[in-house]
Amino acid sequence: MQDAETESDGRDFILDLNFVPEWARQPPGEETQRFKDAEHRERPKIERKERRRHIARKKDASRSQRPRDVSERTKERHVKEAAPSVTIHFIPDQKQLAVIVRRIHASKRAYPVIEAASLFVSNPNVCMAKIENQHDSNNQMLLQCRSCGAVACSNDGFIEHVLCHVDEYFECREEEVAAPAGKFVCVARCGLSGILLGPPNHHSYAEKVQEVHSIRYKHISLEEYQSRIEILRDPELIEQWKKDAARQRRYYAKGAESDVPMNWIDVEAIMAKDIAPKLMRRVKRVVMPVSVIGKIPETGFRSLVEDAWQHELRYPASLSFALRVAFKHKRLHLFRAGSRGHYFVTAVRPMPLNSEYVIDSIREVLMYLREKPGCNRDELVSGLRPGETVTSEAGKKVLAPLGWLIERGHIIEFYNGTLSVPLARSRT
Ligand SMILES: [Zn+2]
Repeated sequence: MQDAETESDGRDFILDLNFVPEWARQPPGEETQRFKDAEHRERPKIERKERRRHIARKKDASRSQRPRDVSERTKERHVKEAAPSVTIHFIPDQKQLAVIVRRIHASKRAYPVIEAASLFVSNPNVCMAKIENQHDSNNQMLLQCRSCGAVACSNDGFIEHVLCHVDEYFECREEEVAAPAGKFVCVARCGLSGILLGPPNHHSYAEKVQEVHSIRYKHISLEEYQSRIEILRDPELIEQWKKDAARQRRYYAKGAESDVPMNWIDVEAIMAKDIAPKLMRRVKRVVMPVSVIGKIPETGFRSLVEDAWQHELRYPASLSFALRVAFKHKRLHLFRAGSRGHYFVTAVRPMPLNSEYVIDSIREVLMYLREKPGCNRDELVSGLRPGETVTSEAGKKVLAPLGWLIERGHIIEFYNGTLSVPLARSRT
C-alpha cells in the first residue's frame, strides 16, 4: 500500500495496485542510473546549492586555464560575477503540456509521471527554467532580455548579453579602404590572438587595441591586455598589416535614414546606451526557455543554471513535480503504486469494484486479473479460454466488458497495454 495522494476534490485516498510496470518494481540496485539518482532529491537544498557553487567555481577555474580560442569573437565575452542567490525550478511549456494532457484524456490509459517528465527533458525547447531571486532588495533584481528571454544578474552582464543581438540592429560590411601609406619600422601584435594591431605610431593603433580588447578580452583589464602586446621588427609582418588594414569592418544602423559607417566601438556604445535599456526587464522572478541558458552572460550564474539543468536531465524531479500539479489542475487523476511509490496519471479515477455483486462474465475477468496481475488482452483471453484468441468469437466475448470496466476505473489499463485491478480504497 502506498502513500496517499491528495486528489483535486480534497479527499485523500490510498490505492493498492497489484500490478505496476516492471521498472517500478525493481529493487534500487537494479534500477537504471537515472532512477538511482532519485536519491539526490533527498539531499538538503543547502548542500546542493553549495555543491553547485563549488562546480561553478571549478568551471571558472578551468575556463581561465584553458588556452583562448582566437577564432570566435563572442566566445570570450563573459563577465565575472559572483553567482546570485536564486532558486531554480523547471516547468513544462504550456502548449506542449496541453498536448500531453489531451493525449492522456483521450487514451484512458495510466502513464508514469516520471516518464512524461523524461519526455519533456529530452527536448529543451519545451522546458522552461523558473528562476527566482531570494533577495528582496532592488539592486538584486534579475534582468531579462525582452528579445530572447535570457537572463543576467548584473547590469554589465546584461550589456554583454545585448551584444549578441547586434545583427538585429546593425549591418556589418567588409569594405576596401586605402592601404596605410608611409614607412614603418615595426608592428604591434596581440600576444593572445596573433592579430596585427599596427605600428604604435599609426593613428589607427589606439582604436584597434581598444577594439580587440573590447571584442575578445574584456575579462582582463586594458592595462593587462596591453602588457600582452608584442612589438616586432619584421618587414613581412608590416606588409601583412598593411594588407589587413585595407579591409575594414564597418557597421551601418538598420533602418536609419543616413548611411553613416561606424566601427565596433561606436556600435558597442550605442548597444549599451540605447538598445540595452529598451530590451531590459527588471524582475524578481523569470521564466526563460532552457534553450537560452547558454546566453546567460555571467559565468557563475550560468554554471548554476546549467548545473541545475544537468541535474534535472539525470532525474527530472522538478519537472515531474510541476507536471503533477499541472495534471491535477487539468482534472486528471494521480495515484502512486509500486514498491517505489511512483506516480501515475490517468484520465479515469481508479474505482475498486466489489466482484461479489457483479455478473459472472465480469467477475471472471476481475478474478483473473487479481490472480495474474499485469497481463495484457492476449494473455487474459488465452488464460481464461485456452486455445482462443482475441479475434475469435469466444475471445471477443471475454473482452466485451473490458471497455466499460476501464472507462469506469474498475480496471486500470497502463500505457503499455497491461491491465491491473485497483484492490482497495480507503480514507486516511
Ligand atoms: Zn537576448
